[in-house]
Amino acid sequence: MTTPVYENFINGHFLKNQTGDTFAVTNPATDEVIYHVEIADEFIQNAAIESAKQGFAAWSAMTPIERSRILLKAVAILRERNDGLAKVEVLDTGKPWQEAECVDVETGADVIEYFAGLAPAQVGQQQMVGNDFYYTRKEPLGICAGIGAWNYPLQIACWKSGPALAAGNAVIFKPSEETPLGAIKLAEIFIEAGVPAGVFNVVQGAAEVGQWLTANPNIEKVSFTGEVGTGKKVMASAAGSLKDVTMELGGKSPLLVFDDADVSQAVSAAMLGNFYTQGEICTNCTRIYVHKNVYQQFIDELKTRTEQNIIAGDPMDPEVNLGALISKKHQELVLGYIDKGIQEGATLLTGGKALSPASAPNGYFVEPTVFVDCKDDMTIVKEEIFGPVMSVLVFDDEDDVIQRANDTHLGLAAGVFTKDIQRAHRVIHQLQAGICWINSYGNSPAEMPVGGYKQSGIGRENGIETLDHYTQTKSIYVGMSNIESPF
Ligand code: NAD
Repeated sequence: MTTPVYENFINGHFLKNQTGDTFAVTNPATDEVIYHVEIADEFIQNAAIESAKQGFAAWSAMTPIERSRILLKAVAILRERNDGLAKVEVLDTGKPWQEAECVDVETGADVIEYFAGLAPAQVGQQQMVGNDFYYTRKEPLGICAGIGAWNYPLQIACWKSGPALAAGNAVIFKPSEETPLGAIKLAEIFIEAGVPAGVFNVVQGAAEVGQWLTANPNIEKVSFTGEVGTGKKVMASAAGSLKDVTMELGGKSPLLVFDDADVSQAVSAAMLGNFYTQGEICTNCTRIYVHKNVYQQFIDELKTRTEQNIIAGDPMDPEVNLGALISKKHQELVLGYIDKGIQEGATLLTGGKALSPASAPNGYFVEPTVFVDCKDDMTIVKEEIFGPVMSVLVFDDEDDVIQRANDTHLGLAAGVFTKDIQRAHRVIHQLQAGICWINSYGNSPAEMPVGGYKQSGIGRENGIETLDHYTQTKSIYVGMSNIESPF
């Protein structure tokens, strides 16, 4: 059976490359190649820049309310096509249908809707200075590049294009080479909704195509989602032409469970924050610090629920709540971390092996895995694993656990479970992380800014402030009297 070949999406349509080079995309739950994608060669790259220049000229000349109206049409189409788009995400990523069906498209559409609503409300300032005055204009940046990770492909494309387009920019988006289809579907939807050709272009390929985007002098900004190490390369390359950057990077986030917490709720949060999307979520609370008074109760309930309530298998089965990891290579990496945890003396509470469910025997599954009695200096406690692997640690002192939680170069997210309202806020204010939850974990509404402290990121996505990251301020001074000049 021949598989489809997708071309790059430039200037409102698919465009064939000249080299004929392609790459294959595999369904992680079946180990089968499902389609091929043409790599953006020099011809495509040049065409993308020309297209985005034209797109920018047309789009930035429209009023914010016109742009808003068009983007809201795209939102409506995204919602109408929810199930088809969710299926694309399941086949590309291996994540469970029960998640994609209600989260991936929905949270992407929400963000475009949010920024479409905000676009007409963005205003400049005006101030008198004596008889003269100045005013400011919020102008778009120009051509912005988006580079995405593979865990939430369509959502990431929406989160980057929503504010960029609302502010009047053009975008060249490069999805992850593991999951390239969602962004193409979004590009088609933008065209159908009336976004002018050239405003949202999709180029395909791996690191080399990303490097071209980060180095290209016609591009004013790069918004990147991916690993910390890649983020450093992207930022270094963007520095060559002093591009603005937004960096949404990795994490190793702590969840602190105090002895007055509702333990069952804390177990729910820990499981969500480690096993949802089979652990491939940047904000996951992979370091769970539990107070010694509730430690045994916590791990007993965690073990029971992990062993009884998780169903791995064909991700399209609506009953399945644990999908396949993105690739064989990633499965091996995650299993390697589990081996390291065992070697370094952590106690395996449950899981620890590759899985081969009857309904998806060739998929890249890993059992939901919990290590207990972990120590702060173990590799599994220090490094991002990006799989279903949780490390549980014990604590007995508030100040001490805050210091331990902060002892990392990462700072994406953090959580606290306690019924003591003063402790909740006191502790969360001291945690060095950009996205924090109290008696909750993982919720990320369009209204709430998200981004990392320390090496987990730069800038924010979502929330009002993000619109500022896609505009620049022009100040205009207006003289109302004769110029005073010594010449
Ligand atoms: P990755 O860094 O390997 O790749 C991300 C993207 O960068 C891909 O599109 C890739 O092709 C591209 N790329 C690779 N090398 C490049 C280079 N030198 N220049 C430009 N582009 C390059 O990350 P991944 O494996 O796709 O995603 C997993 C990582 O993403 C995890 O670390 C996770 O924590 C992080 N992540 C962060 C967030 C967030 O919002 N903070 C969200 C999702 C994922």
